[in-house]
Amino acid sequence: MSYLFPTYTKKEIQLTQGKGSYVYSQDGTCYQDFMSGIAVTNLGHGHPAIVQALHKQADLLWHGSNLFHYEIQEQAAKMLVEKSVCDAVFFCNSGAEANEAAIKLARKASGKSHIITMNQSFHGRTLGSMAATGQEAVHQGYGPMLDSFTYVPFNDSEALELAVQPETAAIMIEVVQGEGGVHILSEQFASTIMKLKKEKNLLVIIDEIQTGIGRTGTFFAYEHYQLDPDVITVAKGLGNGFPVGAMLGKSNLIEHFQAGAHGSTFGGNPLAMAVVKAVLETMSQPQFLQEIKDKADRFNDTLRQELLACASVKDIRGSGFLIGIETTVLAQEVIDACEKKGLLLLPAGKHVTRLLPSLLIEEQEWNEAVSILKAALN
Ligand code: PLP
Repeated sequence: MSYLFPTYTKKEIQLTQGKGSYVYSQDGTCYQDFMSGIAVTNLGHGHPAIVQALHKQADLLWHGSNLFHYEIQEQAAKMLVEKSVCDAVFFCNSGAEANEAAIKLARKASGKSHIITMNQSFHGRTLGSMAATGQEAVHQGYGPMLDSFTYVPFNDSEALELAVQPETAAIMIEVVQGEGGVHILSEQFASTIMKLKKEKNLLVIIDEIQTGIGRTGTFFAYEHYQLDPDVITVAKGLGNGFPVGAMLGKSNLIEHFQAGAHGSTFGGNPLAMAVVKAVLETMSQPQFLQEIKDKADRFNDTLRQELLACASVKDIRGSGFLIGIETTVLAQEVIDACEKKGLLLLPAGKHVTRLLPSLLIEEQEWNEAVSILKAALN
């Protein structure tokens, strides 16, 4: 008997510890973690600089509300701004909240309410972010949905152009659809988005909640394209496991989020900010992202060499360390077989197994994982 609402199908594993690319269960079993807490622990478990930053802040001040200034909050915001094309940050506690802020800001700044998102997108579970999500299954039972979203097929430029109305405020998109099956934005679609932004004066909101914070080998995934977002949302890897989210916006949007326009009691509290700062400092070390990118390229090469020939493998695709293996067999079967051998993986739809290792994974660690995957796929 559990005292929890059964909103998640839980594995028969009780996790008690984590270190680097590995997690350990109560019975002492060691698992290689290719889930990273659903794309969260990008820097692995128990990263010393992050643990130390949290301990240090825990001794000083946990919370004081957003009615006060905190140097650490300004520092974290400055670091995020410097890594992006945006100018200001709103801190919150999760991905859905960051998207909620983005939807509200887009409506307020444009005076319009219509937002175009993609089929199979995933933006969160709150009423606004759920309505933005282009998946019927996520909406089921919660109607009526917030009615100002139109969903178009991902990478379909013609459909996107046709969906724009005089009431359209924004286009909201993931650069790689993570939950939706690991689908990668095409260059052509990216340029259509930018064309519409200019011609129709639309805001471009990029949901980097799964793709951001180094996951694809650049700090933000939009950097792989000629994209110029007005709003960027992040969470997951931003706190490496500490609950935190953020919405970044360009300078012309700042006047629309004045005092009282939006808020969050916990958003950007000193504990979260200490962690965010440590994550960003770690990622700002010289060559850090270049090394991640090179490593991810080598990992992808190994995956292709070892797994493309397996009869059940249809496709291997992804960006950096966000990778999907599409199979003729059910992803859950692949995942269950790998779990028995000590490798934890995620699905992304029925036939796609998602690989989300720590960005700091070593070659010999991924070789272990690839041989488990190969045996399962064969
Ligand atoms: N956006 C994307 C792209 C996501 O992958 C997720 C979570 O998986 C969310 C938003 C929602 O984030 P959260 O679960 O932190 O609310």
